Amino acid sequence: MIDLKDFEFDELAEYLKSIGEPKFRAEQIFSWLHKGVESFDEMTNISKMVREKLAEECFVSTLKIREKYVSKLDKTTKYLFELPDGNCIESVVMYYKHGITICISSQVGCRMGCGFCASTIGGLYRSLTPGEILNQVIFAEKDIGERISNIVMMGIGEPLDNFDNVVKFLHNVNHPKGLNIGYRHISLSTCGVVPMIYELAKQDMPITLSVSLHAPNDEIRSSLMPINRKYHIDELIQACRDYIKVTTRRISFEYSLISGVNDSIENADELAQLLKGMLAHVNLIPVNKIEEREYKKGDKKQIRAFCDRLISHGINATIRRELGSDIQASCGQLRKKLL
Ligand code: SAH
Repeated sequence: MIDLKDFEFDELAEYLKSIGEPKFRAEQIFSWLHKGVESFDEMTNISKMVREKLAEECFVSTLKIREKYVSKLDKTTKYLFELPDGNCIESVVMYYKHGITICISSQVGCRMGCGFCASTIGGLYRSLTPGEILNQVIFAEKDIGERISNIVMMGIGEPLDNFDNVVKFLHNVNHPKGLNIGYRHISLSTCGVVPMIYELAKQDMPITLSVSLHAPNDEIRSSLMPINRKYHIDELIQACRDYIKVTTRRISFEYSLISGVNDSIENADELAQLLKGMLAHVNLIPVNKIEEREYKKGDKKQIRAFCDRLISHGINATIRRELGSDIQASCGQLRKKLL
C-alpha cells in the first residue's frame, strides 16, 4: 500500500494521472493530506468513486499521540508519537517570539553513537519515510491548533543518514499547496556526514545547516563522536566552507559544553582558531545529563566565560536558552524509557 504523503507533489500528480485522474486532483488531495485528514472520507470535495479508487492501493498515514507533556515553565510540548508499526519517535513544540517551532525526528533510533546522546543508545531501528517525518508537523499542528512556522531537524536520528527521504519531506513541507514553510525557516542538524553535506549544498534549498561540532580538535571530537574517526575535523570544516560558498547561508555550529571535557578557555581559543573568518554562529548548549552517561554540565560561570572568550576572538556565539527542562524535552530521553 502506498502512503500518499511519501509522494512529492509531481509524483502524486503522475500517480493520479496513471489511474485516470486529472491534474487538479493532485492539488486537492495534496492539500487535504497536509491539513491532517485521517482518511479519504474526510476529503469532501473528492467524489466517493475516486475515494474508493484511491483506497484500493493507497492509504492516509497518521501518527498516534502516545504520550504528551506540557511544560509548566514555558509551554514547551513534548510528544511521544507512535508509528503504525508500533515504534515510537519524539517531537517537541517550542513557543518562541518569532513563531512556533517544532523539533522533529528523522529516524527511529540512530547509529551514529555519540557518547553523550540518549537517542543512539539502542542503535538504529529504521529510517522514517517522508510521510512519517511530515506527520510530526501535521499532527502536532492539529493538536495545538496553531500554525507551526519553523522546523528544526534536531530530534532523534541523523537526517543525513536518511538523505533521500529527508529531501522529499523538505520539498513537500515547503510546497505552497502543503504547509508552505519557507526553507529559511527550516534547520537541519548533522553530526557531520561529510559527503552528504556536499550533496545537500547541491539541492538548491536555502535551509540552515547546523553542525554538531562539540569539540575544537580531532582528539576530543573522536572521543565523543565516532563519526569523527571517519571524517576528521578538517574535512568537516572544508565541507562547511563549501556549503557556505554554494548556498551563501550562515552555518550554525552546535557545541555542547561538557565539564572538564571540552569547556576550557584553551578549547575556546582553539575553536575560535578553527572557525576564524567563517560565516558562522556558535550555539553553546549546556550538556543535558542522561542517566547512562557520566558527562556533566559545567557551571554557568564557566559557560559564560567560554562564550565571552569566543566573542573576544570575533566569533559570533550565544548560549542556548533551555526550554522544557521540567519535561525531559531533550531528544531521545522519552523514547529511551520504552526500550
Ligand atoms: N543527528 C543530528 C541531529 C540530532 S541531535 C546531529 O547530530 O546533529 C540534536 C543536537 O543535540 C545535536 O547537536 C546533538 O549533538 C545534541 N545533543 C545530543 N545529546 C545531547 C545532550 N545530552 N546534551 C546536549 N546536547 C545533546
